[in-house]
Amino acid sequence: MDDFFYKRLKEARESLKWTQNQLSIESGIPISSIAQFETNARKPSFASLRSLASALRVTTDYLLGRVNEPQTVLNSEDALFRHLDKITGDDRKLLENFAEILANRNTKVMKPLEQKLIKNHAEKIVYKHGFTEFPIDPIKIAKNENIEVKPKDDCFEGISGSLLKVGDQFGIMYSTFYSNKGFENFSIAHELGHYFLDGHSEFLFNSTNIHQSNANFFSSDQHEREADIFAASLLMPEDMFKENLWKFEKGLDGIIDIAKLCNTSLTATAIRYAELTDDFIIIIISSNSKIDFCCLSQKAMRIKNKEIPKKGWSIPKNTATEIMFKEPLRIQKSDRDSKQSDLSDWIDCDRSRDVNEEVKGLGKYGKILTVLS
Ligand SMILES: [Zn+2]
Repeated sequence: MDDFFYKRLKEARESLKWTQNQLSIESGIPISSIAQFETNARKPSFASLRSLASALRVTTDYLLGRVNEPQTVLNSEDALFRHLDKITGDDRKLLENFAEILANRNTKVMKPLEQKLIKNHAEKIVYKHGFTEFPIDPIKIAKNENIEVKPKDDCFEGISGSLLKVGDQFGIMYSTFYSNKGFENFSIAHELGHYFLDGHSEFLFNSTNIHQSNANFFSSDQHEREADIFAASLLMPEDMFKENLWKFEKGLDGIIDIAKLCNTSLTATAIRYAELTDDFIIIIISSNSKIDFCCLSQKAMRIKNKEIPKKGWSIPKNTATEIMFKEPLRIQKSDRDSKQSDLSDWIDCDRSRDVNEEVKGLGKYGKILTVLS
């Protein structure tokens, strides 16, 4: 920096025919500092460097002498930062949204065929280990595979469990944070997904011997999502699940009873239910009055011209879900509630339809399960 910066700064300023005072106004940096920079009496902070480069419309790499062309960018992040300084308010929000879209474009979207392969793989394992009826015990499958399974009671919120690999030996630890057997089973099954699915252990244990999971169905990480799909299919194989569906009531009552039968979490069961039922049903998981996840049964998917609620959308006003969020204690106590509402309150569509909204607090999980049927 010593050799170039002070010269380049002066050159860039003079090429614009600016006085030091003008540069001070444009960059927001005191004129006394600029004078010191140009005589090499003082070096700029990174923030000042960015402001100066931004005002002079050159790159920081140019000012630092790393490149000889004023506009050449060595590091593309530099260019982003340079513009970021000038973007405020709504434009900044717009940019954030756009960045999110671009980032998501790079997260691989799973094709139905890939999902199907994962499901088939999980179901084969269920039958291979001799299970012909619910509940499927993931600990038993792990033991058969010589994987040691241990509870861990000091896990943080958000961590469901972990898979360890030492040499050729695997071990699973699962969080007991939520004191929920169904959630624990799902966590163990998720880790089994990493163990059984092609490419997972190579990827996860590339440079470490422990993988920490967040098995929750909402992860944007490809490996986490695949392990969740595996877990749902392992604990609730399609054929077995469908064979039992008719025995249960429709809606939330049915989901609660199936979760008991399968020994699975309410969330995972509800999502699986929506996937496999022939009925009209919409499942919503939410926290802090915002939607985390929404899935529609095949029949519900047939609603025309709809916009499915997305992550981050607010829960509609005056619904049982919204009302329960105002009383967090009821969520903790796993309270239930229900209310009649209209489909168009929930889903942006041109159709009106009475729906029964059933709501259940998910206890320590802090979330609410909403079933629309
Ligand atoms: Zn994982």
